[in-house]
Amino acid sequence: MIDTHCHLDQIDSPEAVAKEAESRAFTIIAVTNLPSHYARALEPLRSCTHVKPALGFHPLMAAANQHELMPFTRLARTADHIGEIGLDFSEKGIATKEIQTASFARILDVLRGRRRFITIHSRGAVGQVLDLLEQKQVGPAVFHWFTGSGTQLARVIAAGHSLSINPAMLRTASGMRLIESVPRDRVLTETDAPFSRVDGRPARPWDVKLVLERLGQLWTQELTEVDALIGSNYARLLSPNG
Ligand code: MN
Repeated sequence: MIDTHCHLDQIDSPEAVAKEAESRAFTIIAVTNLPSHYARALEPLRSCTHVKPALGFHPLMAAANQHELMPFTRLARTADHIGEIGLDFSEKGIATKEIQTASFARILDVLRGRRRFITIHSRGAVGQVLDLLEQKQVGPAVFHWFTGSGTQLARVIAAGHSLSINPAMLRTASGMRLIESVPRDRVLTETDAPFSRVDGRPARPWDVKLVLERLGQLWTQELTEVDALIGSNYARLLSPNG
C-alpha cells in the first residue's frame, strides 16, 4: 500500500510511524511545506527504503518564505519526490495570488526536464495550475485532494495527470463522483495525514486501506488487485519511459 501525500513531519510520533512503514513495506511519500523542512527530514529518513521525503513549497507559505526558493533549486537536483507545491486561491490564499503564481512558475522552471513524482495542491486554482504545468512542460503530476468541477477534472485527465484519493473524499458526494470518473490507471491513494480525519481522529497512512476497499467494491476487484494497480500507477510516474 502507498500513501502518496502524508505530512509525516506534522503527525504524532513520526519516528514510530516511519518504523512501522518500513516493517510493513508500506510506501509513504513524506511531503513537506518548505525546503528547510525537507532538508531537516533527509537525515532521519536516510535509512528508510519505503518512506520517501518530498521537497515542498506550500502555496500558503510562499509569501512569507521567498528566501526558501533558492534552497528549493539546490535541493531539487537530487530530489525524486516533490510536494507539496501548487496554488491556493481559496479564501485563505487569494490575497497572495500573485506571489504564489510567481513562486510556482519559478519552481516549475526548476523541475522541467527530469521525471519526478510531483504531488500538487490546487484548491480554488485548478485552471491556473494546469495552465502553468502546460506552459512550463512539467508533468504528468498528481492532483491531491482534488475539489474542482467535473469540467476541470476532465482537463486534468486529458492533460495526462493523476489524482490521489483520501478517506475523507469517500464521505462526500462530490468525492465519490470524482472517484467514479477517474480512469483506473490514474488513481493513487493518500491520506494528507494528519489533516484528513477517520473516525473522528487524524488519519494515519494505513487508512489508505479504506480507499482501496472502496475502489475494490467499485471495480469489483480484490484488494490485492487494486493494491497492485495503484503500485504500478505510482511506479509509472517515476519511470523515465512512463
Ligand atoms: Mn497536504
